[in-house]
Amino acid sequence: MEIQEQIKNILSILPEGVRLVAVSKTKPVEAILDAYNGGQRIFGENRPQEMMAKYRELPKDIEWHMIGQLQEKNVKYIASFVALIHSVDSLRLLMKIDKEAANQGRVIDCLLEFHIAQEPTKAGLRYEEAEELLKSEVYRQMQHVRIVGVMGIATFTDCELQIRQEFHQLKEYFLRLKQHFFKEDPMFRELSMGMSGDYRIAVEEGATMVRIGSAIFGKRIYTV
Ligand SMILES: *Cc1c(COP(=O)(O)O)cnc(C)c1O
Repeated sequence: MEIQEQIKNILSILPEGVRLVAVSKTKPVEAILDAYNGGQRIFGENRPQEMMAKYRELPKDIEWHMIGQLQEKNVKYIASFVALIHSVDSLRLLMKIDKEAANQGRVIDCLLEFHIAQEPTKAGLRYEEAEELLKSEVYRQMQHVRIVGVMGIATFTDCELQIRQEFHQLKEYFLRLKQHFFKEDPMFRELSMGMSGDYRIAVEEGATMVRIGSAIFGKRIYTV
């Protein structure tokens, strides 16, 4: 019951229109089912094979979101069912997604991931790189991907001001891209930002999707 309770608490804080991605990476299907039975339908995973295994076992009306760094060779595992890929950080990856989606006869929704944190390890595009990608002829020819917004991960810090500035920066990137590349496209509208520790700030800064794991499912235990 605790998982459902946590979800309810979070939903009660989220403004209308902000969607909750329950990040279930490393968690067993039982935990996901518990959340599902409480009404949750969107789940986020960061490993393609793990996501595929869970997809096979669980109800088919679940919306699976890939939130972690995705290697080109692993796109094939999720291309037939993934609802949204949050972590597109290169033209090469987008090309691969386009190709695998074409094989499946579908269009896959994607977010461009931006580097907004101070930490050098966090993945993501710089603004100029995103512009270059969107201007490229290769991208313009793609028929099987649709870019519906942006995603970012803030620095892991106690400094609220810094986190707020990073989310603000992401919103600004979003608005600039909207203006320059997606003006006539109502589907370009998602701002995926905010995790367990900082989603309240993200919502204040305009998030349309928050990705919350440990605040719902408890701490993760990683085994290598
Ligand atoms: C793991 C992860 C989350 C969720 O993190 P929590 O702190 O457990 O809420 C969100 N986004 C990404 C990209 C993640 O990898």
